[in-house]
Amino acid sequence: MSGATITEGRLGLMLTELRLPTIKRLAAHLCAQSDHEGWPGQRLLEALFEHEMAEREQRRIERHRAESGLSPDKRLSSFDFAAVPDVSKAQVMALAEAHEWLDRGSNLLLFGPPGVGKSHLVCGLGHALVEAGRRVLFTRCSDLVQRLQAARRDLRLPQEMTKLDRFDLLILDDLSYVRRDQAETSVLFELIAERYERRSLAITANTPFSQWGEVFVEPAMTLAAVDRLVHHATILEMNVQSYRRRQAAAEPAARKGRAVASATP
Ligand code: ADP
Ligand code: MG
Repeated sequence: MSGATITEGRLGLMLTELRLPTIKRLAAHLCAQSDHEGWPGQRLLEALFEHEMAEREQRRIERHRAESGLSPDKRLSSFDFAAVPDVSKAQVMALAEAHEWLDRGSNLLLFGPPGVGKSHLVCGLGHALVEAGRRVLFTRCSDLVQRLQAARRDLRLPQEMTKLDRFDLLILDDLSYVRRDQAETSVLFELIAERYERRSLAITANTPFSQWGEVFVEPAMTLAAVDRLVHHATILEMNVQSYRRRQAAAEPAARKGRAVASATP
């Protein structure tokens, strides 16, 4: 049988039935190469299955990226660590590369005023974890609280919590924007308690723990939530000036510099 027609017959049907699209695509080429170079049978089989597995993994990562809610352009590679001297690049890279902390249900908490790069940094870390094969969901904390409250009203809070259990890391962006007076937020506490020591949370906040009383229904609940979150957690404090504001401040100087440079003969 010629290389071009090898998967048009019975073999092609079997590969479709077995859902092996990559082998089906590459079989003609690899079989021809194998015949030509006289590979042992085992080598041909290994080559075919290696390609199938690699593409399967790639498709899985693509699916996880699509479901993650992560901004595509907020990557660790575009994060300027020099702008936040208190945050160790090595520590963040270690969280991305040695991701067993997710198996222990450890948490990550990022604090700092608006504009210092909390969302960008946690999003970049999320991407790195997706690429490492983990499942991540990025959501604004207030959006998730609303979603959970709706689920509670419809008596399907447990099912909604179970759905979130699929994710190795749940990123709750801007906890400080959840307001107790907006709605009853004990669902957030329930989520924290539910994931405690099992599934990881990453939380960004503009306000320190001392002001989290604004978010939870009562002081005892605030204490209990903070207690669970920090028990196994990495805390990153980003107390610098807003990155945007610094860039805006640097821009006129840079423009002036360029103007001077171009005016100089
Ligand atoms: P925060 O979540 O702390 O309010 P963001 O992550 O939204 O801040 O950052 C504000 C903007 O500035 C974003 O466009 C972000 O990409 C950019 N930014 C902030 N810090 C950095 C940094 N260290 N390196 C690169 N871009 C940054
Ligand atoms: Mg943010």
